[in-house]
Amino acid sequence: MTNQATLILIKPDGLKKSLTGNILTRLSETKLEIVAAKITRVSQGLAEEHYQHLKDKPFFEDLIKYIRGELHNRRKVMALVYWGEDAITKCRQLVGSTNPEEAEATSIRGSYGRITTSGVYENVIHVSSDEKEAQREIRLWFQPDEIIVNLYPSKEVLEKEKKRKTWA
Ligand code: UDP
Ligand code: MG
Repeated sequence: MTNQATLILIKPDGLKKSLTGNILTRLSETKLEIVAAKITRVSQGLAEEHYQHLKDKPFFEDLIKYIRGELHNRRKVMALVYWGEDAITKCRQLVGSTNPEEAEATSIRGSYGRITTSGVYENVIHVSSDEKEAQREIRLWFQPDEIIVNLYPSKEVLEKEKKRKTWA
């Protein structure tokens, strides 16, 4: 048995369409464990890093606007890490193909995705494509102490006089 981790993002269209519950319910069919979860804003830098493999595509700029929530007036995503046996395969199967018109009708993207008039696939959810990408993406979206299992090597650093917010 090989345990894998995968990044899942509920994209801004998923949040705007109030699909969080539906999507999490569908993903619970996998019986995988959620080992990290948060609502987070997506900076320009994070968006560009996340989609670095598509930077030469004509739709790249729109894609960055999409994941940053600029097309849906929802400047956030829900980011999660699912972990367990064959996590990537199981999640990709449930999520369906990138193009929502080609995705199996009962998959998450087939059920809820659409193609905009400008051609962007608004497919409500992101899932990592393979283990290497999963590691790259999870390290990009989460710090080690936000994940309740030790997925990848980490180190402890002493931070001197770093300002952080706490409850007043
Ligand atoms: N995308 C798009 N048009 C394309 C290919 C991709 O709008 O022709 C968008 C779509 O939202 C997709 C994201 O870019 O989810 C990332 O593309 P990738 O090829 O990595 O597909 P994924 O891994 O998300 O299925
Ligand atoms: Mg991908």
